[in-house]
Amino acid sequence: MIFRGVSCKQLLQIVQAIKADPSIMDIPQHEFLNLHSSTREFQKLTQKLAFKLTNGNSYDWVVASVPDLLCYHFEFNHVFRMGLEEALRTHRLPFNLYTYLDEVTAGNPLRPDNKRKSYVWYVGIREMGLHLQNELAWIPIAFLPSTVKDRIPEGISEAGASLYSNMLKDCRMRLGFALPNGTLLQLQVKPPVADEAALKLLWGFKGSGGLKPCFLCSNVLKKNHDMLALDPGFTDITSANPGEWTFVKDEEIFSTQDRLHEAANWMGKGRLDNLQKCCGQNLQKFGMLKNDDVRNGLKPTDSQFDGMHCYFSNGVGGLEIDLILQEIEDKMVLDVNKLLEFCNGWQPTQKFLIADGQFKGMARSTMAFIPIFNHFLQKEVAPLGVLEAHLKSFAQLSAVVCQLRVVKNQFPVQEIWLLIDFWLWAAQLMLDFHLFSTHWLVIAVVVLLLL
Ligand SMILES: [Zn+2]
Repeated sequence: MIFRGVSCKQLLQIVQAIKADPSIMDIPQHEFLNLHSSTREFQKLTQKLAFKLTNGNSYDWVVASVPDLLCYHFEFNHVFRMGLEEALRTHRLPFNLYTYLDEVTAGNPLRPDNKRKSYVWYVGIREMGLHLQNELAWIPIAFLPSTVKDRIPEGISEAGASLYSNMLKDCRMRLGFALPNGTLLQLQVKPPVADEAALKLLWGFKGSGGLKPCFLCSNVLKKNHDMLALDPGFTDITSANPGEWTFVKDEEIFSTQDRLHEAANWMGKGRLDNLQKCCGQNLQKFGMLKNDDVRNGLKPTDSQFDGMHCYFSNGVGGLEIDLILQEIEDKMVLDVNKLLEFCNGWQPTQKFLIADGQFKGMARSTMAFIPIFNHFLQKEVAPLGVLEAHLKSFAQLSAVVCQLRVVKNQFPVQEIWLLIDFWLWAAQLMLDFHLFSTHWLVIAVVVLLLL
């Protein structure tokens, strides 16, 4: 067993946990992957991407050679092979290779150490369907520590450009490559599923730092901007009506970047900074929007917002729970112990935690808590005749979450769109009380299966 990077205190906790319940070690062998079996084996699966750092030094970023790594997993990763074999039987080639990008921080989640923050890219094959619910079906391909990212001139966008360009250029991806059993696999690389912060960094958009927080819409501006009063063609980020949103085309995104470059030839720094904020893009030399391979092979508008983050992990679900907890605490109708006793008493037993008036839990826990909490509100708070509108709003959120759970576990992707109207209707009711942004939520539904 490898304990690299684990503190003595944590190691002691692990040993004590194993002593208390030795059966936790009885995990089937096929669930384990040992990528550290030999350095030579590891090197065969990787390649180096070179960067010039801000201090003038060069840096070799070791990333996976995706076809080689997928072949490796086909051979040794039971979950991946089963999913891929089923996909090969039921779907036509080429398959869609989805990339997923997220921030991870090694160490204690309750005391995150920013110096250990990193960005990780994973790939998953869309046609593997519900097999993607198993984390072993998602293959990590690149890991970039934030301490290195900060020294790459254009950060994640420059690293991403190099990574995607490399993946796209690999002719074996387009023409196909043979799996260890001789079967042909053809893959089409897709831009990432990620939270808004990661998509912004990757594509080099301004996000909330610019006039247009959403890079997919050309007329959705930040809240309370003066332009909204001038032109009825604009709307703001709290708009819950997709009929008001004008979606951008990929060509427009690229041509905006080109025009920024033209402007940079004659415009002063102050004006150029302003122009970048208005366009919602950073001027890039090495980033994703300036890379020819990326432009030819990926569509920024195919990027997908990660449903898990939109709703559950620092998303709307968690926010709404905390808001209503605050409301019922203010009205003195909440006994937290009674609430927890009620919510933790269901089968299978859950351990929900509320501390300092806030719900503490990961995405999965938040998803499980909302319908139970709603049941508590309807049963214990509604009879008191208080907060009627708030309870109605929360019941809508709960209905949406129940639908999301159905989608996550059962629905094929094409049927997801049938549910959007329902969600929008429910979201508009919720908007009467809390002005969260429906914007991301609507876009996020497409990727819920990947949650
Ligand atoms: Zn938008």
